[in-house]
Amino acid sequence: MYIVQIASECAPVIKAGGLGDVVYGLSRELEIRGNCVELILPMYDCMRYDQIWGLHEAYRGLTVPWYGGVIFCDVYCGWVHGRVCFFIQPKSGDNFFNRGYYYGSTDDNMRFAFFSKAALEFLLVSNKRPDIIHCHDWQTGLIPVMLYEMYQHHGMGHQRVCYTIHNFKHQGIGGADILWATGLNREDYYFHYDRLRDNFNPFALNFMKGGIVYSNHVNTVSPHHAWEARYQDVGYGLGHTLEIHQSKFGGILNGVDYNIWNPDLDHHIPFSYSIDDMTGKAKNKTALRERLLLQNVDKPIIAYIGRLDQQKGVHLVHHAMYYALNRGAQFVLLGSATEPGINSWFWHEKQHLNNHPDVHLELSFNEELAHLIYAGADMMVVPSNYEPCGLTQLISLKYGTVPIVRGVGGLLSTVFDRDHDSDHAPEKRNGYVFYQTDNRALESAMERAIGLYTQYPKEFAQLAQQGMEYDYSWNNPGTTYQTVYEYIRA
Ligand code: ADP
Repeated sequence: MYIVQIASECAPVIKAGGLGDVVYGLSRELEIRGNCVELILPMYDCMRYDQIWGLHEAYRGLTVPWYGGVIFCDVYCGWVHGRVCFFIQPKSGDNFFNRGYYYGSTDDNMRFAFFSKAALEFLLVSNKRPDIIHCHDWQTGLIPVMLYEMYQHHGMGHQRVCYTIHNFKHQGIGGADILWATGLNREDYYFHYDRLRDNFNPFALNFMKGGIVYSNHVNTVSPHHAWEARYQDVGYGLGHTLEIHQSKFGGILNGVDYNIWNPDLDHHIPFSYSIDDMTGKAKNKTALRERLLLQNVDKPIIAYIGRLDQQKGVHLVHHAMYYALNRGAQFVLLGSATEPGINSWFWHEKQHLNNHPDVHLELSFNEELAHLIYAGADMMVVPSNYEPCGLTQLISLKYGTVPIVRGVGGLLSTVFDRDHDSDHAPEKRNGYVFYQTDNRALESAMERAIGLYTQYPKEFAQLAQQGMEYDYSWNNPGTTYQTVYEYIRA
């Protein structure tokens, strides 16, 4: 099959979070299975050019109709760790992708509406006719809309769209100007409730809703979150739309690329290790302490890696840090915040704890350090308010780092409480789970984990190894996506 992935991220060249990992990992898996896979991405000024090989101009002067005129783009092609990627670079004063960051502009909806339009134009004029176009998140929600309403009439009538929603919170909201810019026009038609009209604001259009309505298949990234999105508030107003389109909606658990996230192969960690020989993990723990200037004493290291925002349960992350210190553990945090209030809160904490020998806060995005933390820590806290899938707990399991998670979304589907999970035999349990959002709930899980580590180290090591035995690679999800593609193509 010929598959084109269109997304706003692809790790490691463009990565703000799990979306980048998933786009890369899934593409690799599909290629291993014999498919031809290409990716179309924006050409950001701030992406990691050192992760692209053989970057060259593939198409000069792509004319993309925009607001009754055109914007010229150049399309570059290069290999990102073996994947063929096309990068779209618009030549316009709007500077859509030359802003020093990936997201966060007031005109983000215009930036990614343009990217979506340009990606389709590129497919059209370069005569690329994939069997499947796989779109991700709100940034590409308009692609199935434009494909069905416009491009199928220009010779792209056989392309089928799979649309994956990684986070319902960000949906891409715009006004009628989106229609005039993209050439969709027909305001009355698109503002219909059954098409793009936002379910809350009758004067707004919703990209993600468009993606749901117009795609051949829609999924989110775990079966449990698919249920939550329909029946709980984490669908952020799209529950009814999902209900209407339930026959083509489901959940497919993300995988982890074990070629990259694997303590046996990882080039970013000083000591490799595996389930059969864990001595490297203890050495990585020492290396982590040296790197972060923590004292080398007999204590567990508890870590947090992730965005610092409300979704991730930032108050509980903060509490976990102080609780760990009170209970005689060390704490390592790697995270970045986009919200100014949260950012300054954690910078304040960092200064306050600067000379503390048992804690380190690294407030940045640092891929290499993340690898060392996964390898060197004993436990990972993931106290999310909601979590569509979550990759940190999956990576932690692979590195023998025991996850302590809140039982929501994909966390609930992948972590099984050592003491309380009645659905899994004791030898299949792999972490700790709590359910409520208050401090006490988190404490109860952390207390049990720290208690096991200090009082029953052999049992703790056994629990870590049970986590390593799980297969959360792309193998299973790869099969499921392949089946979905074949189904919608037929
Ligand atoms: P998200 O909601 O951000 O997509 P996921 O758990 O699905 O959360 O994926 C997070 C990914 O981003 C993981 O690969 C994690 O290691 C990585 N990550 C998050 N924050 C950072 C950071 N500050 N530095 C390095 N990697 C990070």
